[in-house]
Amino acid sequence: MVHTQFDCIILGGGLIGLTAALALSKLDLNIAIVERNPLEKLRKSSGDQRTSAISASGKVMLDTLGIWDLLKSNAEPILDIRVSEKNTKGFVHYSHVDADNEPMGYIIENEIIKKTLIDSNKASPNVSLIFGQSVNGFSSGDSAIQLELSDSNLLNGSLLIAADGANSPIRTLTGLKTTKIDYKQTSIVFTVNHTLPHNGVAHERFLPGGPIAFLPMTDQRSSVVWTEKTSIAKELTNLDTEDFLRGASIRIDDCLGKLSIIGSWATYPLSLTYAENIIEDRLVLVGDAAHRIHPIAGQGLNLGLRDIAHLVDKLAQAQHTGLDVGSYEVLRRFQSSRLVDNTSLVAATDGLNRLFSNDSRVIKLLRGVGLSGVNMVGPLKRVFMRAAMGHLGQLPSLLEGTLPHPTS
Ligand SMILES: Cc1cc2nc3c(=O)[nH]c(=O)nc-3n(C[C@H](O)[C@H](O)[C@H](O)COP(=O)(O)OP(=O)(O)OC[C@H]3O[C@@H](n4cnc5c(N)ncnc54)[C@H](O)[C@@H]3O)c2cc1C
Repeated sequence: MVHTQFDCIILGGGLIGLTAALALSKLDLNIAIVERNPLEKLRKSSGDQRTSAISASGKVMLDTLGIWDLLKSNAEPILDIRVSEKNTKGFVHYSHVDADNEPMGYIIENEIIKKTLIDSNKASPNVSLIFGQSVNGFSSGDSAIQLELSDSNLLNGSLLIAADGANSPIRTLTGLKTTKIDYKQTSIVFTVNHTLPHNGVAHERFLPGGPIAFLPMTDQRSSVVWTEKTSIAKELTNLDTEDFLRGASIRIDDCLGKLSIIGSWATYPLSLTYAENIIEDRLVLVGDAAHRIHPIAGQGLNLGLRDIAHLVDKLAQAQHTGLDVGSYEVLRRFQSSRLVDNTSLVAATDGLNRLFSNDSRVIKLLRGVGLSGVNMVGPLKRVFMRAAMGHLGQLPSLLEGTLPHPTS
């Protein structure tokens, strides 16, 4: 049995755990990242068919961490967002012209982000990638935490960062109170080519079963996120490809011309998971382990990136003042910095889904009025846009474009 000592141990090598490792490596901390999937399997393909809409501030963060240059040739700028509802007058059109001519975000394939993060972490001398291992046990004491891996080796550290996803085994082991709601909806995700150009426009159409979004990708492709009640999603995936694509295309009034599917589709059952407390002794929850939200606004990853940016600031301040990075005081400051952002996005995405995935005639009328109202009121629309771009509130260093420095 081998004992190894680290400053921070990150559990989970998803997009959030990998970003956390890269960001913390800039603080001169000694980091271990533990992931149950083997490294080479993830580098080849993790089977993730999704793309992520990275907000403008998320882009600043990835740039500050030194990986935007590696991603940008695969990133399609979002220039316009058209939100509509079938058979109502309501329609919102967000244009980058209203946002200082900056793109409102970028669409990138998750697989590409993950590979880039893995390679950048591999090149960091103070990050140890412990892949192909899961966790058998976990204990926390006054001065350290200890993780027992599936090969029986022990890792000791000052802080455990749980980025182990929505079903977080660590959250369950520690008994942190969690709210869970099954939306009984499933997103079918796939990539298409189309005969007409997307011109950088993201389309989102609200339908009673859930929204369908067409997100612009490089090379005249779009990523489709088609959300339906789970029973209907099952029927849709049993259709032949031509009927399936026809169904997707008519939902956005065939505005991209003829669609052809690239590869296959994948399904993602949707739920809300929200931990009321995201800290315990020498433990923090980040990303989906702390909050899995509905993808209706494409914000889950962006929210997790903001967790990391705030955590890195708090750990840098701790180093500067000589505090233990796993001490309760440091973690408490982190938790309070995340309260408003986390709870407001959980509430907003849950509320939006309830409002739009509904066939009541009265609600439909109100929705239509609401959508056109937002479209007409310029300043209000700009506030919504800046929030989606991640520009509201006090920003941590990584979102402002600087690396936090332990000595500043
Ligand atoms: C359909 C859909 C579309 C979305 N689109 C967007 C979007 O456009 N923009 C956006 O911002 N967000 C989007 N999201 C949300 C985003 O994908 C998630 O918020 C994000 O991927 C969460 O990353 P994570 O690293 O926290 O969790 P995960 O990706 O779940 O990673 C957790 C990792 O932990 C590992 N793990 C778990 N348990 C253990 C263990 N015991 N030992 C070792 N390893 C373990 C897992 O193997 C996994 O690699 C979307 C979500 C869905 C469902």
